[in-house]
Amino acid sequence: MDSAEYERKIAARFATFDQDGNGYIDREDFSAAAKAVLAEFGVTARSDKGQALFIGAEAFWQGMAGIADVDGDQRVTREEFVTGAAKRLHDNPQRFAEIARQFLHAVIAVADEDGAGVTPGAAVRVLRVLGSDAEVAGKVAAYLDADEDGRISEEQILAAFAGYCGVEPPDA
Ligand code: CA
Ligand code: CA
Repeated sequence: MDSAEYERKIAARFATFDQDGNGYIDREDFSAAAKAVLAEFGVTARSDKGQALFIGAEAFWQGMAGIADVDGDQRVTREEFVTGAAKRLHDNPQRFAEIARQFLHAVIAVADEDGAGVTPGAAVRVLRVLGSDAEVAGKVAAYLDADEDGRISEEQILAAFAGYCGVEPPDA
């Protein structure tokens, strides 16, 4: 993949993070994502799982701002995302895991409805509510459950999410 193609893919990821579509990524986008996931699974914001998800979303935002909000105005523009976040995360995928892990851990706790692990169906619901189209969500969920045991591990989700966000080539 050449760098122009890579930057196009990253630009597409920007829309995923810009949940409310107002042209920049900020704290509201992360709290909106948390709210959407909670609503999908019928979990209240005041519950332990709900609180954990909002805390994780805030940590994710702070991590994103720390690497991408170059001018410090608490907004990550498309340009800041493409040039700042994309490059730094691509050069250091481990950093992405660090900033996303708490959020993903909390999402998994919400989506793991029976306490036995996240099912592919639950993973599809998470992806759909975060704005992924149905076809992509289904493919991702099937890919995640590569061993076909009907459950998806946290490590699989973290790796796939990193790919989804463009940290690694998504089609790798
Ligand atoms: Ca936004
Ligand atoms: Ca900024």
